[in-house]
Amino acid sequence: MCLPILWLILLSACQPTPAMVAVRVTLPPTQGAVLLATAAPTTAVPTRTPTATLSPTPTLTLTATPSATLTITPSLTPTLTLTATQTLTPTQTLTPTVTPTIAPVDFYAFRRPFTRDQIDYADRTYPYGMGEMRGLPVHHGLDFANGRGTQILAIGDGTVYYAGQDIDVLYGPIPDYYGNLVVILHDVKSLDGLPVYSLYGHMQRIDVTAGQRVNGGDRIGSVGDAGVAFGPHLHLEIRVGVPESFSSVRNPDLWILPYPQFGTLAGRMTYSDGTPVYEGTISVKRAGLDNAVLRYAYSYNIDATIASDNIWRENFTLGDLPVDTYTVFVSDRNGRVHFTQDIEIEAGKTSFVEVVIPKP
Ligand SMILES: [Zn+2]
Repeated sequence: MCLPILWLILLSACQPTPAMVAVRVTLPPTQGAVLLATAAPTTAVPTRTPTATLSPTPTLTLTATPSATLTITPSLTPTLTLTATQTLTPTQTLTPTVTPTIAPVDFYAFRRPFTRDQIDYADRTYPYGMGEMRGLPVHHGLDFANGRGTQILAIGDGTVYYAGQDIDVLYGPIPDYYGNLVVILHDVKSLDGLPVYSLYGHMQRIDVTAGQRVNGGDRIGSVGDAGVAFGPHLHLEIRVGVPESFSSVRNPDLWILPYPQFGTLAGRMTYSDGTPVYEGTISVKRAGLDNAVLRYAYSYNIDATIASDNIWRENFTLGDLPVDTYTVFVSDRNGRVHFTQDIEIEAGKTSFVEVVIPKP
C-alpha cells in the first residue's frame, strides 16, 4: 500500500510593487565663456586698461523630455509562509515543498450591491461553481436573497454596457436566462489587462440605460425574479474579457471587498499529477473549539464552464470569514478526509491554501 503524500502551502497575500519612475533629463554641453585678455605692454607709455571680452554670451538650454512611462507589473514574488508542521494521520508522511507560485494579489476592486441594512452577504448554500452534484445549473455568480423591489447598487465606477432583456442578446446558456439584466463596464482592468464587467440578473426594474456613467453605490434597479430564478434575488457575476461570454466569469469572492474584520479563504486543490480535484470538500471550523463545521465549499470544475482567476488560479473560496484561526478540513468527493490544517484569516485579505492529494 502506498502512502499518500500531501503538500500544503499557505501564502500570505502581498501587494504588487509599482515600478520606479525614471525621468531622464538630457542637457546639451554647457557652452563655456571665452575670456580674451590683452596684456598691457611693459614699456607702455599710454596707460591702457586691459579689456576683457566675454564671448559668446553663455546660454544654457535645458531640454527635458517629459516621457516618463509608468508600468505597474504585478509582483511575481510572493511572500511564502510554509507551515511545515502539519499534523496528518499517523501513516502519512508530509514532504513540504515550496512551489513557485504566481503572486496572490488582493484585488478587492468592488463594494457590495446592497446597503448594510439589507441582506448584503451572498447565499452560501449555492456558491460560485456549485451545481452538477446538487442537480442545479453550475452557478456562475453569487446570489443575494433580498426581497422583490430591494434597491440594487452598482458595485463600482463605470459605464453601463447593457441594460435590458437577454432575449435577443444572449448572456446565458439560453435566451431569457437573466430576464432583465444590467452589465457595467468598470474603470478598472484585471491584473492581466482585460476589461472587467459586473452583471446583475433577474431584476424587477432597471433604472439605467446603456452608455450611462455610474458610480459605485448608485442605484441601478431593483431585485426581482425575471428569467430563470427560484424566487426574488440578485444574481451577481464578474466577467473578465468578453462580456457576452458565459464562460468569462470569475469568482466574485475574490473581487468584492470583505466586511471590516473579515477575510477570504481561497485555494487550489489538485491531484498529485496536477489535475484539479473536482467537487472536493473544504470545510472550516474555528480552531481550538470543539464545535460544528462553520462553513464549507466544494472545489469547482475549472475545466468546464467555470473559470478560475488568471492570477490566483483557485478552484474554491470561502468568502466573508470573520478574522480568526480556522481548522480547515479537506476531503474528496467520497468523504475521505485527507488532512486538517489551521490557517489564519486576516482582515481584508485572501489566505491561499494549495492542496495536493494522491490520485485515487
Ligand atoms: Zn445565481
